[in-house]
Amino acid sequence: MLPQTSKNTPKIKRLVVVSNRLPIILVKEENGDWNIEPGSGGLVTALAPILRNRGGLWIGWPGTCERVNLDKIMAIANKNTGHNLKPVSLTEQEINKYYFGFSNEIIWPLFHDLISRCNFDPTYWEVYQEVNQKFARVIARNTTADDYIWVHDYHLMLVAKELQNIGIKRKIGFFLHIPFPQLDIFVKLPWRFQILRGLLEFDLIGFQTTRDRRNFTQCLRTLIRDVRVKGKGQVSLIQSGEKEIRVGNFPISIDFRDFMHNSETKEVADRAWYIHEYYPNQKIILGVDRLDYTKGITFRFQAFKRALIKYPELQNKITLVQIVVPSREDIPEYHSLKHEIDCLVGEINGQFTQSGWVPIHYIFRSLEKPELLAYYRTAEVALITPLKDGMNLVAKEYCASKIEKNGVLILSEFAGAANQCHKDALLVNPYDIEGVAETIYQAFTMDKKEQHSRMSRLRRSIGKYTIFWWVNSFLRAAIAKNLDNFPPLEYYIPSEEYSQRKIISL
Ligand code: UDP
Repeated sequence: MLPQTSKNTPKIKRLVVVSNRLPIILVKEENGDWNIEPGSGGLVTALAPILRNRGGLWIGWPGTCERVNLDKIMAIANKNTGHNLKPVSLTEQEINKYYFGFSNEIIWPLFHDLISRCNFDPTYWEVYQEVNQKFARVIARNTTADDYIWVHDYHLMLVAKELQNIGIKRKIGFFLHIPFPQLDIFVKLPWRFQILRGLLEFDLIGFQTTRDRRNFTQCLRTLIRDVRVKGKGQVSLIQSGEKEIRVGNFPISIDFRDFMHNSETKEVADRAWYIHEYYPNQKIILGVDRLDYTKGITFRFQAFKRALIKYPELQNKITLVQIVVPSREDIPEYHSLKHEIDCLVGEINGQFTQSGWVPIHYIFRSLEKPELLAYYRTAEVALITPLKDGMNLVAKEYCASKIEKNGVLILSEFAGAANQCHKDALLVNPYDIEGVAETIYQAFTMDKKEQHSRMSRLRRSIGKYTIFWWVNSFLRAAIAKNLDNFPPLEYYIPSEEYSQRKIISL
């Protein structure tokens, strides 16, 4: 549901979601026909019911550059999803330069602090602007001034600016799903001013954490003249010339009940039992990641190896099940990461395997949801160690699926989820191989009582701040006027002594 509006807040008739991809998957059959499958993931789960109830619209790339009869496909897809879909057609060259190029070879690594992985090809920037213009034109043609336009993620940071360039006024907000970097990293971007100016054309900008928002406002203060920031709650106000922009942090989450209820089913329980039968007398330590260098998979393997050396009693008693979901393999960096992971798995298994025990069980494919839930449910430890991550939903899904309230979450302090989970997860610095190895041992030896109390608190918090809370709080900030409606959120910063973790309210 859209939040209630008061008398003096603008009336919004329809929600229009804009993202790089439409929430459908087009699959070409062998006979050349196209099949439409619904998209999955938290964003679709949270937004689809709102769009359905209110007759909303979703604008995005349909996922294919092939010449197909999109009108016909969309008419069927509209019926299936219960809301309208408007495709933005892109050529292969546009996808290569705007999506694989600018978005995933520049913004993705830079915003995850990995500047050495950036490929600052100037032609990427040209096409990024053109594609953002294309999106703006589709928005202009298919929306009215009564609509609220909610734009998602780093692929589309210039859409509001491009709308303004063609003289179209809309109420428009933006949510960044990935982190926003610190000034000394952001400043390396050759198009830093254009990106900041582009973002300032939105009415509301949402970030995952207070730290991302603070990085953004620091970049503004340093790089853009005449910018003032007011207010310190969950939402603050930026004055830029005549324009007022709201900036807030809205940590994204999951449909907690859905994960919980699905984990309770007999199918998942049976699968979980079978999985564990396969590893008799062992504890399972689980990693689940897309193939991505930000996920810290190779550092994690090194730490696991270190734990096996430092604590030989773990050998034969613990198996690391690592699920890697194939992703962006057309980008050379991802291709070589895959090779590096394959080699490390081979090396560690070659060194430690004994009859009846292989230390790393490596799965390179996407799992069906019941199988994934079964792994969550049965694994004694989740080892989630991204080098940097906007949020990391796997951490929250693991806790939601632990219906017996057992299990230990080891979590990188550089994942957005650490802000919420820092008290009851075991936080680690993913670069600290020795520290992660120690924490693996700590998790392995944690008694049931401590596991139960930590997991209960994690589940309470994640169950309270769900994906629906996220949608509501963003839309409330988009519509409501009064900043006092948004109290401060806590965020975590590392301190010298883990036992003295500080909570700062900004
Ligand atoms: N996931 C999946 N299939 C799998 C493994 C994972 O669909 O085999 C999903 C998982 O449930 C989660 C998402 O992939 O919702 C990963 O989200 P996360 O925020 O952890 O990382 P991202 O991939 O968005 O960077």
